[in-house]
Amino acid sequence: MKTRSSTPPALKSEMAIPAGTGTPFDDDKLREECGVFGIFGHQDAAAHTALGLHALQHRGQESAGIVSYDGNRFNTHRNLGLVGDIFSSQKVMDSLVGKSAIGHVRYSTTGETLVRNVQPLFAEFAFGGLAIAHNGNLTNALTLRRELVNRGSIFHSTTDSEVLIHMISTSWANTVTNRIVDALQGVEGAYSLVGMTENALYGVRDPLGVRPLVMGKIDDAIILASETCALDIIGADYVRDVEPGELVIIDDNGIQSIRPFAAAKSRLCVFEYIYFARPDSVVDGTNVYEARKRIGAQLAIESPVDADIVVPVPDSGNPAAMGYAEQSGIPFELGIIRNHYVGRTFIEPTDSIRHLGVKLKHNANRAYIEGKKVILVDDSIVRGTTSTKIVEMVRAAGAAEVHMRIASPPTLHSCHYGVDTPDSDKLVAANLDLEELRKHIGVESLAYISMDGLYRAMGQEAGRDPAAPHYCDACFSGEYPISLSDLDSGAGTAQLSLLAEQNG
Ligand code: SF4
Repeated sequence: MKTRSSTPPALKSEMAIPAGTGTPFDDDKLREECGVFGIFGHQDAAAHTALGLHALQHRGQESAGIVSYDGNRFNTHRNLGLVGDIFSSQKVMDSLVGKSAIGHVRYSTTGETLVRNVQPLFAEFAFGGLAIAHNGNLTNALTLRRELVNRGSIFHSTTDSEVLIHMISTSWANTVTNRIVDALQGVEGAYSLVGMTENALYGVRDPLGVRPLVMGKIDDAIILASETCALDIIGADYVRDVEPGELVIIDDNGIQSIRPFAAAKSRLCVFEYIYFARPDSVVDGTNVYEARKRIGAQLAIESPVDADIVVPVPDSGNPAAMGYAEQSGIPFELGIIRNHYVGRTFIEPTDSIRHLGVKLKHNANRAYIEGKKVILVDDSIVRGTTSTKIVEMVRAAGAAEVHMRIASPPTLHSCHYGVDTPDSDKLVAANLDLEELRKHIGVESLAYISMDGLYRAMGQEAGRDPAAPHYCDACFSGEYPISLSDLDSGAGTAQLSLLAEQNG
């Protein structure tokens, strides 16, 4: 039997975290707030975790952390910044000893308040150490937090993960697994989480499977990750998706699967296919790149236009633009070039220079634009700020006409399931009708893919059937598949928005 360190706290290192790093320029996208990774039973557990997080960097660029367990104690390193910077030091990697580890990347706002929220979170409770990292949002976290605080819990962070930790630690169930089940049955929301104790790695998806989580294998080690691209980077084989509502426990005895929740229809986030997931990932059996091309092709069927070239707004518009070009027979051209080296700030992101971000990131390829009728394809429009600047740029490069095609329905509603979304008064499509938005962006024509078209592109020939929806599409439809208890209760709006901002 393995023993615990007798000298609490069990964290070997908890380094000071500088404030002020981060991604400065709003590129006008919804932001996936987190990616998770866990591995059990590999001598290079921390190195594989760092590589996995590197592959998941698109899910969060503001902070990252790893907790490993070496058979005696938990070791941790967390910081603000990119994975490649945080885990570049051999000394840091050497400190993350052990055959099991979990890691996390996170998108959030910058600032000192972030320090205590960087995941994975770690705590000691009656059964030993417990580390948790999660992607998503608990929609009754505020309610639970208040109850826990009233019962004497003291919170260190504002993350949902800590709510879960407290629920696990205060459960009266007789085993760690039963306590986790007990805690999960009390929470509502959309989440994929990985947890690690001294003996096991845990992975769980919410009952509707809104956020993705896959299982892989390398040698004899089992891996859990937000996306398959995190398996590919370390040469691991994909085993299967963790099912919606499934809790997997991986320990020396193998893999155990538990279903703590009542059976429910899956409602995976459709935005994973539109924008969040990496195009080389396979989400719920569907290659993301392929899905995006099909969405672009469907867009061409629904909203054709006479033009000379199809130009993606890179990089996220690339696959849909390719699909549009293939379907329409209009040549695909990289008429906008993206600078990939502006990820982090070298000047402060004040409002007065924020608009420059578009020009720092994109430049029109004049030789291919001048005199042409251009179809610009983007995955979504959120605030509309980037679209306006991109169109200005393309016109300045001499485009004869500019037509905009969007590979998602209008984003009309906020996401409450772990994605950073502006309030609806900042969502441009919620405030302008199509013609007003066309004028606002400054294009000859503007069209979004229809909701039915999106579902057709995802393989549902009949389009969106409300009786059998396969996805969460609440940011388009306003139909939220999971209750929004904290919001509906109307309590503590300011505190709620703070929590939403700081969760992952
Ligand atoms: Fe995804 Fe939109 Fe649903 Fe949020 S509301 S989980 S972004 S589909």
